[in-house]
Amino acid sequence: MGVLQAEGPLAFFLDFDGTLVEIASSPEKIQVPRTLPQGLIRLALREDGRLALISGRTVENLRSHLGDLPLALAGSHGAELFRSDGTRIGDEPAPLPAPVGQAFASFAARHSGVEYEAKKYGAALHYRIAPELEATANAFAQQVAAQSDLRLKHGKCVVELVRWGANKGDAVRAFMAEREFSGARPVFVGDDLTDEDGFAAVRDFGGFGVIVGQRSETCALYRLAAPRELGSWLQL
Ligand SMILES: [Mg+2]
Repeated sequence: MGVLQAEGPLAFFLDFDGTLVEIASSPEKIQVPRTLPQGLIRLALREDGRLALISGRTVENLRSHLGDLPLALAGSHGAELFRSDGTRIGDEPAPLPAPVGQAFASFAARHSGVEYEAKKYGAALHYRIAPELEATANAFAQQVAAQSDLRLKHGKCVVELVRWGANKGDAVRAFMAEREFSGARPVFVGDDLTDEDGFAAVRDFGGFGVIVGQRSETCALYRLAAPRELGSWLQL
């Protein structure tokens, strides 16, 4: 990290699942390393506050796993943005229409192995324990998306509906417009398809992406094998 810092200040944008923590069989079963919250605070201090987590989870959910930390957070794929002092950037997003959640819940009830996750600003179907249902779940989500004018997001064994405009690239751009981040060279670290928007956005600011894990088609410049390696790189 010393060499990179010698070329100017860095700003870190980190995804959460599959990047800072290993993916589990369902979203609430993740194991957050005991030292992670303090490690993130140390990193933010070293970088003069130029650190934000950018996750598909809601900010509320991130805080339930990490505690109420003084960290900049983007939740719901960038639909909700908070500075490290807890103030919001932009407006609170609107929740999804209730029939969308109802449709997903009833789909999950009819398909054993599919789990519905009700999110504040999104709705997700997880099929990690029934991967053979990928095509069925995707087709169903596509149909609901078209009926409700929502955007489909694909992830690892998950398909999710969000409002148009929620994306991790826009979250990067919003943070880079903040005084703390402005002028730094941004690094986006993520593991999944939705992180590609973040990898593309940091390039526009002279930064680069780091992909965690095995995804092959990526515009990230560097690769780390697993969350553990990211932890050693950033001394988390
Ligand atoms: Mg991820």
